[in-house]
Amino acid sequence: MSEGKIALLPDHVANQIAAGEVVQRPASVAKELIENAIDAGATRITLIIKDAGKTLLQVNDNGSGMNPFDARLCFERHATSKIANADDLFRLATKGFRGEALASIAAVAQVELKTKRAEDAVGQKVVIEGGKFIVQEECQTPTGTSFIIKNLFYNIPARRNFLKNDQVEQKHILEEVERIAIPHTSVHFIVNSNGNEILNLPAGNLMQRLKSLLGSYIQKELVPVEESTPYVKIAGYVSLPECTIKQRKEQFFFVNNRFIRSAFLNHAIYEGYKDLIGPQSHPRFFIFLDLNPSEIDINIHPTKTEVKFTDDKTVYMLLSSAIKRALGKANASPSLNFENEMSFAAPVQNGQPKAPFIGYNPSYNPFSNPAPADTRTNKAHWESMFEGFQNKQDTSEVIQQELSSIKSESVEFSPIQLNNKYIIAVWQQNVLIVDQQRAHERVLYEHYLKSNLQHPVASQQKLFPDQVELSVHDFTLVKELIPELKTLGFDIDVFGKNSLVVNGAPADMEGFNIPEILEGILETFRLNTIDAKVEKHDNLSRAIARNTCIRYGKSLDTTEMKALLQSLFACENPLYTANGKHVMMTVENTEIEKFFRK
Ligand code: ADP
Ligand code: MG
Repeated sequence: MSEGKIALLPDHVANQIAAGEVVQRPASVAKELIENAIDAGATRITLIIKDAGKTLLQVNDNGSGMNPFDARLCFERHATSKIANADDLFRLATKGFRGEALASIAAVAQVELKTKRAEDAVGQKVVIEGGKFIVQEECQTPTGTSFIIKNLFYNIPARRNFLKNDQVEQKHILEEVERIAIPHTSVHFIVNSNGNEILNLPAGNLMQRLKSLLGSYIQKELVPVEESTPYVKIAGYVSLPECTIKQRKEQFFFVNNRFIRSAFLNHAIYEGYKDLIGPQSHPRFFIFLDLNPSEIDINIHPTKTEVKFTDDKTVYMLLSSAIKRALGKANASPSLNFENEMSFAAPVQNGQPKAPFIGYNPSYNPFSNPAPADTRTNKAHWESMFEGFQNKQDTSEVIQQELSSIKSESVEFSPIQLNNKYIIAVWQQNVLIVDQQRAHERVLYEHYLKSNLQHPVASQQKLFPDQVELSVHDFTLVKELIPELKTLGFDIDVFGKNSLVVNGAPADMEGFNIPEILEGILETFRLNTIDAKVEKHDNLSRAIARNTCIRYGKSLDTTEMKALLQSLFACENPLYTANGKHVMMTVENTEIEKFFRK
């Protein structure tokens, strides 16, 4: 009998082919190794990468470790300690269940494993290259496991060439880390890239984790979501409607603590925001769904992250109503209304108080339209004011033009303060009601905006420089902004990992807590960046003005009010803040006359 045509592929070739499914890029290796570490009960996981994991990708954990036998066996295909039969596939308590990750990784890289259990005196070292076993020997190593993966795809040049540049590959890795780190908040994660620690997420609760990932500002922008039924338990955080952003970013679903994508769950979230946000606004969300594993079918294809529920409709409804309720609760809380634009007074007509109308237009882009001038010339302002406050153009064109053209210190005001919030002044028989915070914001904005490299803002040197610790995100941002911040009067330099030293600050910021102000500035800057049209210097000027201006509640004496009004009228545009909000309201003489005629 002649030999047939069919031959079995040698194991290492089969493994290489199969590896393509599991190992697409360094990020897939990171994901598999970190998930294994979690399954091994680790409480501290360190990922070390060189050249975005192309040269080196190492995961150290303090988990259970392996005995000498398992240390060798774990690299065999279908070697897994986590599944005994096919039914177990639906038991989603652990991350891995296929027993092919290590075999696949070992097929396409040079791998070194060091592992030791707590009860063993010495550890085991196993070396495998391109799927070929090289050596196993005893070694000194701490309890836990360390996988070192070198030169990924060294034996498949086509795959190696297919990898993107380091920046892109590193971004993929960090995405995978985020997806694991968010649901596993009791594990301390550290990521080190080319010798720099780029992420350090201490163990804590979910909010603490989100803050260390995204910056502490995130706490103010999120509201908790909670809903519990026998079928599904929903928990997590979503953006306040006013804190939604222009990009789809930071949108996470976790089903039984596993990151998944789902178009229909996504839809349920937006349904919850219906009528609260505009079409270009996107919430951040971090939603956890917990169900009995028998109610879900996670597509177990290694790279897919999709899920089906036995009762999709119920999940959809519960999720969207949970979002609605969370947002409704947040809205009812008074703390969020402290900057309510319309808190000036409840308009009263015929003795009937009228609910002030909050003119919140979700598609209004404050950065791209300078507030439009009102084209109506014969409008009864006094009346329109009473008709409801939704009319934003209550300053007539004539007055607007005149006001903008006052450019002199010669105007004398005798201002009085109302509710520690507004400055009331008479100007040419008209009454001006000026918002003190916005007025000062405008003044500061123009002051900072005018500075440039040749004419920087005067900086006051500090006797005792401040040291500022920042989140990774803030630190990366601030590093880029240092030259710009110097122009604006901040004499700052990098001072070690994630921290800055502030040697000087703008001269008129004396008495401010500079580290706090700086954090606020970065936060505002980041929010403004969402509209990319605002150029850096302009954006920073806005952010500084916003964070250092006089607040509501501050009582001002006559001299201070006069000074503020005079600087305001020396501005290019005293009528609007940089973000297009009204700085003042005018009640014209003619309107007053008209009113009292009746
Ligand atoms: P799976 O995770 O699907 O079981 P893997 O190939 O990822 O398959 O891992 C194979 C086996 O190796 C695991 O089931 C586990 O027993 C062991 N193992 C892998 N990584 C670790 C680790 N970091 N600590 C302890 N055991 C591990
Ligand atoms: Mg695994």
